[in-house]
Amino acid sequence: MKAEIIAVGTELLLGQIVNTNAQYLAQQCAAMGIDGYFQTVVGDNEARLKQAISLAKDRAELIIFTGGLGPTLDDLTKDVLAAFLQRELIMHQPSMDRITAFFEARGIAMVESNARQALMIAGSDALLNDTGMAVGNAMTLDGTHYVLLPGPPREMKPMFENYAKDWLRTVMRDEMPLYSTMLKFCGIGESSLEHALLDLIESQQDPTIAPYAKEGEVTIRLSTKAHSQEAANLQMASTVQMIRDRLGLYLYAQEDIGIEQAVLRLLAEKNATLAVAESCTGGLLSDLITSISGSSTSFLGGIICYSNQVKHELLRVPTTMLEGEGAPGAVSAETAQVLAEQLLILMKSDYAISITGVAGPNPSEGKPVGLVYIGVAQKGQPTLVVNVTHSGGRDLIKLKSAKTALYHLWK
Ligand code: ATP
Ligand code: MG
Repeated sequence: MKAEIIAVGTELLLGQIVNTNAQYLAQQCAAMGIDGYFQTVVGDNEARLKQAISLAKDRAELIIFTGGLGPTLDDLTKDVLAAFLQRELIMHQPSMDRITAFFEARGIAMVESNARQALMIAGSDALLNDTGMAVGNAMTLDGTHYVLLPGPPREMKPMFENYAKDWLRTVMRDEMPLYSTMLKFCGIGESSLEHALLDLIESQQDPTIAPYAKEGEVTIRLSTKAHSQEAANLQMASTVQMIRDRLGLYLYAQEDIGIEQAVLRLLAEKNATLAVAESCTGGLLSDLITSISGSSTSFLGGIICYSNQVKHELLRVPTTMLEGEGAPGAVSAETAQVLAEQLLILMKSDYAISITGVAGPNPSEGKPVGLVYIGVAQKGQPTLVVNVTHSGGRDLIKLKSAKTALYHLWK
């Protein structure tokens, strides 16, 4: 933010006092990351002050005034700026009460001009004066920020330190663009994820934490205002780490990609191939994978083993396993395992995924809708078989099953 400091006072021009306020404000601005572009000194003169404001408005985004907030007629900073901005001056009642109380306590009659010190430009924020009478002002109009501070250093410094600084920080923050980072999760539902992060979500300030679920995956969007993506990443790093510590097992990417993309990257890194045996997903898993360009590097193909006949004839699942009294059935850990292992052999792939489940709407083999068995076979490793029960309609159960299968491979 480009800033200009305007020190108002004929004494400054005459060399009767040294412009130490400008020095102080310049140092403060620099420390806050505000770029000091110009410093102006102007006398207590309406026309020239107006000229200085007009010039500053064209070349700076922030104008800080010091001096001329007092009660006497030569104190005209507020009047001139109000006129320049075509704003009225209004009473700041708390300041007025303080001034009145001050005079009452000393038994002195208050002169009308003292009330001028309680005036503020309509629409501005008051900057309190804890060590004097004149209220300071801060406002933003047409993209320019104006801060009015008194001249006496013993008033100006505490006002800047205690009030103007916070105001400027807010303004600077509001002006910064919003940056986000996406954390992508699979294998965990939205409510379990929210539960694990409840304290962080409830006490969130910066960055903001927004979880949302979509198509079998959960996304957390972290957002913060910063000067650059790098600065934003730094601001978000500790929150990301906290989330990673709690849910790292399900966090497959720190960018907006699907689990299928994460799996394909992993396979490419390992120079490994994948084949799939899909029953209840009917080809959806293959569709997800082949939607990513370049998937041919790792994806060999698959078999839609929807019927028991295909499960048996192509993938050698024993009929006794599939059907008959006391048989585990097509939707079972046993079947998922054979499907994955046989496919691995048949396709000569490094990995094989099998999916067999009940997509609904009706139960099958006496098993509930949403129950799905997933097998992940890997060359030279024991086959992993898991079961999950998904909620939702037929389409959603199929999608969740395909994504969960990919998640178990990724894991
Ligand atoms: P007051 O209520 O005292 O009139 P003011 O806000 O109107 O305060 P000025 O009248 O411009 O401020 O200045 C009052 C006194 O503050 C000056 O006499 C001087 O001692 C000090 N002062 C003003 N401007 C500066 C400055 N830029 N640097 C250092 N001291 C200053
Ligand atoms: Mg004065």
